[in-house]
Amino acid sequence: MIQEVTMYQAVCDGCGRICASMGGIIAWTDTESAKYVALESGWKEINGNLYCPDCVACDEGTNSYKPKGKEDER
Ligand SMILES: [Zn+2]
Repeated sequence: MIQEVTMYQAVCDGCGRICASMGGIIAWTDTESAKYVALESGWKEINGNLYCPDCVACDEGTNSYKPKGKEDER
């Protein structure tokens, strides 16, 4: 039989891009796996939000990552 299930996927809080794994998988059955794969793919978790590599910048001052486009926020 075919059954509908609830899946979870990582979505960039900056640009809305969906995180796809190496194998092209875009959704998992639990939130932890979705987040784990995103982080393994170079995504960053900042203040509870997820950002794809295109949406984060390395802050040389604090040596930490921050979302792009928020340079004015200090
Ligand atoms: Zn993004």
